[in-house]
Amino acid sequence: MMISVEEALEKVLSFIEVLEPEEKSILACLGQVLAEDIYATNNIPPGDNSAMDGYAVRAEDTIGALESSPKYLAVIEEIAAGSVPTKALLPKTAIRIMTGALLPEGADAVVQFEHTNEVDHCSLLNNLSQIGILREVQKRANVRPRGEDVMEGTLVLSKGTVLRAAEIGMLASLGHTTALVIRRPVVSILATGDELVDTKQLLSPGKIHNSNTYTIAAEVLCYGGIPKILGIGHDSIESLNNKIDESLTSNLLITSGGVSLGNYDVVKDVLMRRGEIALWTICMKPGKPSAFGMIRSKGEKLPHLGLPGNPVSTMVAFEQFARPAILKMAGKKILAKPTIEAVMDEAVVNTDGRRIYARVVVSKKGEEYHACLTGPQGSGILSSMIKANGLAIIPEDTAGVEAGDKVSVQMLDWTENSILEV
Ligand code: AMP
Ligand code: MG
Repeated sequence: MMISVEEALEKVLSFIEVLEPEEKSILACLGQVLAEDIYATNNIPPGDNSAMDGYAVRAEDTIGALESSPKYLAVIEEIAAGSVPTKALLPKTAIRIMTGALLPEGADAVVQFEHTNEVDHCSLLNNLSQIGILREVQKRANVRPRGEDVMEGTLVLSKGTVLRAAEIGMLASLGHTTALVIRRPVVSILATGDELVDTKQLLSPGKIHNSNTYTIAAEVLCYGGIPKILGIGHDSIESLNNKIDESLTSNLLITSGGVSLGNYDVVKDVLMRRGEIALWTICMKPGKPSAFGMIRSKGEKLPHLGLPGNPVSTMVAFEQFARPAILKMAGKKILAKPTIEAVMDEAVVNTDGRRIYARVVVSKKGEEYHACLTGPQGSGILSSMIKANGLAIIPEDTAGVEAGDKVSVQMLDWTENSILEV
C-alpha cells in the first residue's frame, strides 16, 4: 500500500534521535546547534568608551560652542584604543581619544574631530595645547556605555541556537574558545547496482558511472552531515551485507537503488533480514519505491533510508526524507524547505494520482512568482535538476494542473539571487 509523503516523513522522523553534544573550537561549529546556554560573564563593552575619534570632554564645557566662536579647551593627554587613561578630565580640559579607547574619568561626552578646529591645525598632541570645539555636545554623545551590547549575567545565546557568523563572533566576544554543539551526523552512503562503476573507471558496455554517491554526499555536506562513502555494492546479498557492516557505527545509512520490484533489487531483502522495514512505497513521483527501516545488528541500531536508484528520484526522495532526518539528528528545529506559491506557466498532467515533484525554474514577474518546467521530467534526467531552483508540487489524487494554476513550490535554493526577475 502506498503511503503519503507526510505519513512517511512522520514515520522516518519517529525513528530519528537528536545526537549527543561535542565540544569544538568555535569556528568549527559553524552551522551547528548550540547544546548549552551561554551567559555573559563580562560586559560588552567592558567599560564606557569612545564611539568616535575625537576629544573626550565635559559636555557643559561645550555649551555655546559655534564655528564662528569656538570654545577652547586645554588638551592634557591622548588615549589610543587599548590603552588606559592616566589622567582625569578637569573642567575646561579635553583628552584626545580614539574610537574604542576607554573614556577618562570626568569626561561625559566625545566631540568628533570634524567638530573641532583640529583639521585646520593639522597637528598632533605635542604641538597642540588647545583645541577649539565648534559645536555643543550633549552628555553621553559619542559614548558607548559599558554593557551596551551585552550585560554581564544575561543569557546571550540559548541552547538550540544555530551558530552563524554573528553567533560565533559573539562567542569570541565573550572569550569562548570552544562551544558545546550537537555533533554532525555521520551518514554512510552506499550505491547499489551491478551496472555501476566509479568515476575513475572507463565505461564498458552496459555500465554507467555511479553519480548518486556524489549527489547524496554533496547534499549530506550541504545539510551539515559528514558523508562516509562506502562505494558501490553489488546486487547480491553478500555484497550488501559486507557494506552494511561497514556502516554500522554511523548515524544513518543511505542506499540508492535496489528497492524496486526487479529481480536484482535485493536491498529490501537484506534490510528485511537484518532489521525491519518501516515503510515502503510512497505516493510520490519520482521517488515511489523509497524504503525506510531500522537495521539492528551486532548491538548497533542504524536507521536506513533506501532511495530509488534513478538519479532524480534519489535527489527528490533525499530532499523529502534524508534532509529532515539529518537536520533532526543535528538538533535543528526547522526541517521543512521554504515553500512559495507560484503560477504554473504550463500544464502538468498527473497520470496516476501520485504527488508529482516537478522540477521548475521559479522567476519573479512583477509581484508574482512563476514556475516553468525545466524540460523533460524523466526520473533519469539529472539535467532537469541542474536547471531547477525548485520542486513544484502537483497534488496527488488530481488530474494535474493547468497553465495559470497556482502551485506550491518547494524551493531548493532560497536566496533572492536564485530567483530571476523577468
Ligand atoms: P534501481 O533503483 O536499482 O532499479 O535503479 C534505477 C535506475 O537508476 C537504473 O537505470 C540504474 O542504472 C540507475 N542508477 C542506480 N544507481 C545509480 C547510481 N548510483 N548512479 C547513477 N544511476 C544509478
Ligand atoms: Mg539497481
